[in-house]
Amino acid sequence: LSSREAKEEDTVVQVGNVSIGGGSFTVMAGPCSVESEQQLLESAYIVKKAGASILRGGAFKPRTSPYSFQGLEEDGLKLLAKAREKTGLPVVTEIVNPEDLDLVESYTDILQVGARNVQNFALLKKIGRSRVPVLLKRGMMTTIEELLMSAEYILSAGNDQVILCERGIRTFETATRNTLDISAVPVLKELTHLPVIIDPSHATGHWKYVLPLSRAALAVGADGLIVEMHPQPEKAFCDGAQSLKPETFYELMDELRRMEYVM
Ligand code: PEP
Ligand code: MN
Repeated sequence: LSSREAKEEDTVVQVGNVSIGGGSFTVMAGPCSVESEQQLLESAYIVKKAGASILRGGAFKPRTSPYSFQGLEEDGLKLLAKAREKTGLPVVTEIVNPEDLDLVESYTDILQVGARNVQNFALLKKIGRSRVPVLLKRGMMTTIEELLMSAEYILSAGNDQVILCERGIRTFETATRNTLDISAVPVLKELTHLPVIIDPSHATGHWKYVLPLSRAALAVGADGLIVEMHPQPEKAFCDGAQSLKPETFYELMDELRRMEYVM
């Protein structure tokens, strides 16, 4: 169902008045996790002011260590809904447990499946029965073929609103957190009609590389970005090192607008 043979024209995922895929370049941004009302609302206003179109923020965090901050859970979802109400920005947040589907889908505009859950088939089948769009992230060790098979789980259960995300894969290279597989974009574009976005934050683990890789994403034909931005990255509960400061995020958005104009 995900293949170009099954459907030739690009899928456009419509979220409120935001279209993802089909030629537009959509930027989703916000903190790794929802930490407090002030942190999230401040982030949301910055995302809006910068001209990005979707707010991200994790309420359920799949952390490597069980001792790390696990997210505010439903309180975090409520804050996302509040931020949406204040700014009009649709929100994307991660679901980690199939049992939480009713809860998460009652608050969010896009369900994110994280890298660690890309082959959580119970979760994929469950969200396949939802009508809420899904942002499916490639796992750190999944091939493109496997990513597409995971998308098939969702599509074949009836949910055709799937966005794919390349967020870096594990390689022998240690200079960056992961290695962005930029070629995944043209390869996926050839194989599938689904929108493909890039996450330069998790791909590199460092805010400094987010801008150059965002340029690459636009140049290579991705349908957008999901970027981590925090009002005070040094105080972030998680992923502070890869989170852009507001000033840098404004710069990124200005530059993307200039590039699109040139292109
Ligand atoms: C995230 O988006 O904060 C996240 C956990 O991403 P990934 O699943 O790609 O590691
Ligand atoms: Mn993160």
